[in-house]
Amino acid sequence: MSHSRRSSRIPGFHRKPPRERLQIVADFAGLDAETAARLADTGGLGLDLADHLIENVVGSMNVPLGIATNMKVDGEDVLIPMATEESSVVAAVCNAARQCYDAGGFTTSLSGTLMIAQIQTVGVADPYAARLRILERRDDVKAVCDGCDPVLLKFGGGFRDLEVRVLDTLSGPMVITHLIVDTRDAMGANAVNTMAETLAPHIAQWTGGRVYLRILSNLADRRLARARAVWPLEAIGGEEVRDGIIGAYHLAAADPYRAATHNKGIMNGISAVVLATGNDTRAVEAGAHAYAARAGHYGSLTRFERTADGHLSGTIEIPMAVGLIGGATKLHPTAQASLKILGVTSAERLARIIAAVGLAQNFSALKALATTGIQKGHMALHAQNIALVAGAVGDEVDRVARILVERGTVRQDVAQAVLEELRRGG
Ligand code: NAD
Repeated sequence: MSHSRRSSRIPGFHRKPPRERLQIVADFAGLDAETAARLADTGGLGLDLADHLIENVVGSMNVPLGIATNMKVDGEDVLIPMATEESSVVAAVCNAARQCYDAGGFTTSLSGTLMIAQIQTVGVADPYAARLRILERRDDVKAVCDGCDPVLLKFGGGFRDLEVRVLDTLSGPMVITHLIVDTRDAMGANAVNTMAETLAPHIAQWTGGRVYLRILSNLADRRLARARAVWPLEAIGGEEVRDGIIGAYHLAAADPYRAATHNKGIMNGISAVVLATGNDTRAVEAGAHAYAARAGHYGSLTRFERTADGHLSGTIEIPMAVGLIGGATKLHPTAQASLKILGVTSAERLARIIAAVGLAQNFSALKALATTGIQKGHMALHAQNIALVAGAVGDEVDRVARILVERGTVRQDVAQAVLEELRRGG
């Protein structure tokens, strides 16, 4: 089919079974049979299930699942499943955890499992009085919210608090109602969105305004996961390393250009566990970055200091809206396996472990940056990717990668030359 006649208008695409959709896409894009077959192979997920998770499914995108070892969280050893396509991420967690294992590992806590839903009301004549009229109805608000979700109530969750703010916006004052809801072992987006939608007509009536947006806030700052660890001087290689790490944190705290990269590294670890457990990576990422900017400028999610004894202390505090119920968590077999590997039976424990992983990740990144530089560790793994791309198979991959690292040039053209040398028996 000539490209000029291709059309993306495909009526009824969503009603077709995945295999038929894939055929249409293969024709459109000129995919060969092997490429199409790879797409269609959804592995452990199962095509039927994939087709129920999102729309217009044709296949799946497989991401490696690695296990981080050496983690001890609140006195208990845990293995951490991490789903990521990026090399060095899993190794970074293993290394950081090994260096604080004997000192006790990670100590964690959670501020609560509270989510916030927002209701936007505009066109209110007397916004400050309307604010009080809503606050006076707290009991009614609680009854409406709790009435939405008897199952959540049964598990000890439900409405907890009410906040109303008057915001001065580009289109004038808005009355913003916050429903604060304990969502227990659920991430809670659907749970609180339903409450906000159900309550909205009441808010309109009490305020005399018009209600528009009714949705959760991803700035889940009533659900802060915290973790801390001490890395003994002798475990990390001395004072210079410690001070380098602290200096690296100081730069992140002072400079958003650095903080963005610093926090990206933290999210390398965090998003990998969030994804492995079928949770919503975007929700956690949005919350993390919004929280990092809470002081009015974007800063670091972690802090590093020296302890009274001169060791390195690291801490993290980060919104962590993850659950064991809902979304893909309950449905995806790999997510279920990941939860089993972690041995978690509550969203709280999961959130706390994830915070510890974020701190571990950050420690390793800063240590590498402050000492040998990030490329040395990265390059060893990256060299394997390059060797694969150059066509190395079996034990050639390691041999080519090692030679590339030794020569200090991890490039595909060099990898090809090395591979040819090896195959010629060189
Ligand atoms: P959900 O609605 O599937 O499950 C939550 C419900 O499970 C609760 O309301 C409760 O009725 C029930 N439940 C059973 N056992 C429970 C227990 N032990 N603790 C708590 N609840 C229990 O899922 P959810 O967590 O409300 O929503 C998560 C999904 O919403 C994710 O897939 C996310 O991607 C999606 N989402 C996110 C956003 C956002 O982040 N902005 C917006 C919309 C949807």
